[in-house]
Amino acid sequence: DAVIRLEDATKVYSLPFGDVVALDKVCISVIPGEFIAIMGPSGSGKSTLLNLIGSLDVPTSGDIYIDGRNTRTLSDDELTELRRDRIGFIFQQFNLIPLLTVLENVEYPMILKSRQAVKGSSRAHDLLMRIGLTEQMLAHKPKELSGGQQQRVAIARALINDPAILLCDEPTGNLDQATGRIIMDLLLEVNRRGKTIIMVTHDADIAAYASRTITIVDGKVA
Ligand code: ADP
Ligand code: ADP
Repeated sequence: DAVIRLEDATKVYSLPFGDVVALDKVCISVIPGEFIAIMGPSGSGKSTLLNLIGSLDVPTSGDIYIDGRNTRTLSDDELTELRRDRIGFIFQQFNLIPLLTVLENVEYPMILKSRQAVKGSSRAHDLLMRIGLTEQMLAHKPKELSGGQQQRVAIARALINDPAILLCDEPTGNLDQATGRIIMDLLLEVNRRGKTIIMVTHDADIAAYASRTITIVDGKVA
């Protein structure tokens, strides 16, 4: 069964000078454990697609199913819960909270979920160690780390609530090539451990890590 399914997913932005069809009747089915790269020219609708899958935005028409549940039928609270428990997000700019330490950044989604501060620590600590950070980095602020290390922290944060799906928007876009490859090897390892990954990239070398590439052109699957 599909973990993600889009049926004629369409997104239209209404602007003063007319409508922009960002996505046009897109149908995609993703099986659990797949690693999918989304490619396509700038403005083709890749970010819109990722936002719809991540339930950050709703389609104008068509349906999106996550774990077989039609997101259109879910309340705002249920959508928040879905995002928090089932989906991890990784961004080009890392999006770590600058005032929190590395450890606190990773604990944060766990605290939001359980609403208690104490129990998270050892799990966040263990995950950060397994993801390749060192003990001494845990108390640092994100900006004190290299880009590659910050992306590792972001990956740990995305994994802390053990989501089924990881959504990655240009995860290596802010990294040099060598560091990018190290981060991709880590994402490949995460995928082999069972996470479904959907990754937007414009870089064919990065897309080659995925098991399937979907190309979007003018809002349509090419
Ligand atoms: P990509 O990620 O492939 O660069 P986007 O999904 O960002 O493409 O954009 C697809 C189309 O939708 C573009 O024409 C873009 O200008 C338009 N678009 C995206 N977001 C918005 C928005 N919030 N309001 C209006 N138009 C938007
Ligand atoms: P596990 O299921 O192996 O016990 P945990 O629950 O401790 O994993 O960790 C949460 C998630 O983090 C796991 O589902 C796994 O996908 C990922 N993970 C843990 N360690 C690593 C690692 N060294 N490399 C990549 N991913 C990892």
